[in-house]
Formats: sequence, structure tokens, C-alpha cells
Amino acid sequence: MTNIVIFGAPGSGKGTQSERLIDQYGLHHISTGDVLRSHMARGTELGKIAESFISQGQLIPDELMINILADVLDSNPAATQKGVIFDGFPRTIPQAKALNELLAKRGTEVHAVIGLEVDDEELVDRLIKRGQMSGRSDDNLETINKRLTVYHSQTSPLRDYYMTEGKYKAIEGKGSIDDIFNAIKKSIDQVSR
Ligand code: ATP
Repeated sequence: MTNIVIFGAPGSGKGTQSERLIDQYGLHHISTGDVLRSHMARGTELGKIAESFISQGQLIPDELMINILADVLDSNPAATQKGVIFDGFPRTIPQAKALNELLAKRGTEVHAVIGLEVDDEELVDRLIKRGQMSGRSDDNLETINKRLTVYHSQTSPLRDYYMTEGKYKAIEGKGSIDDIFNAIKKSIDQVSR
């Protein structure tokens, strides 16, 4: 059983690689972006709040986001027994600390953090292309630039946080999807138990 955080800037390929990891390792996938978009699509109260932050390229406030994740874990008790791939969470140091606590309560921990490293120029390129196809309201140039600024100021400090914990595995995120996936597998197979 292995819990993995897949970590990287918007457009770094977290979603794509998560899908492959689920197939390969039978992990339970928790994507906080998907959870929020599902609320937005259903027009729930939470969805309306999420929309106001996401459309501005801002993060959902930590306290709310941590409660949402706790709910997701509570409603999927089998997830942490099977092993989880956390995609899009944590995005801040307080979220990382909360995740440690939530997993400790369930007798487990984060085993590895896969960091997909891609330069900004490539990220902007990818997100603009995705915006044209997916129609995601936050994949337009103005919001993309805001999301990258937020990533560098609030999320990228997690790299050092997890390096200090000895859990960070840097993966070159540019190249073929298969090559990237093989590099991820190698890292995970070293920590799997
Ligand atoms: P990807 O390229 O893998 O889709 P992304 O960063 O473009 O990654 P999501 O992870 O789907 O997209 O997140 C979309 C938006 O949802 C974020 O820009 C943010 O506003 C909000 N969000 C998702 N997860 C969190 C979180 N853990 N904390 C705060 N806000 C979040």
C-alpha cells in the first residue's frame, strides 16, 4: 500500500500521469480539481464559492480545502487501505501539514511525492492548447499567468518541504508521456511496500 502525492505546476501533466498510475498500481485517485469542478457543474453552494476563486486563478482558502479533503477521505474509507494518489493536494504548506495529520489518524502517511518539473514557457504553451480543446474557463492566458504566479509563491515551497522529509522525487516532466511514466514507476518501485 502506497500513498503518493503527484506534484507540479498547472499543466505539468499530473492528471495524465495519475490515470496511468491508477491502472498500474490500482490506487484510488483523489483530484481536488475534479472534486471542485464536479461541485461547480452541479451548482452546489461549495461549487459557487470554488468558481469565484478558480476563475480568478486563485487557490481555494486552506481551511475550506482541508475540510473538503477530510470529507473525501471520510466518504472513501477503503481509499487509504488501498493507497491513494493525491492529485492537486496539497498546494500549500498548511495543506501538507494537514495531510500528514489526516493520514496519521488513519495509521498511514505520504510515502512519496512525485514532482513533475516543467519550465514555465512549456506550461503556458500546453495550457493554452488545452484551453482551446477543453473549454476550461481557467485555461485562458490571463488566468494561466495568475495560476503560475500563485504556483511559484504558494505551492513550489512544498518542494523543499518534502525534500526535507526525504520524500521528494524529481521527475523531468518534458518528453514523451511513456518516458515520463517509466521514470515515475522507477521512483515508486523504490518506495513501494
Ligand atoms: P492539472 O494541469 O493537473 O489539471 P491544474 O493546476 O491546472 O492541474 P487542478 O488541479 O484541476 O488544475 O485545479 C484547478 C483549480 O482548482 C486550481 O487553480 C485552484 O483554484 C483549485 N484547487 C484545486 N486543488 C486545490 C487545493 N488543494 N487548494 C486550493 N485550491 C485548489
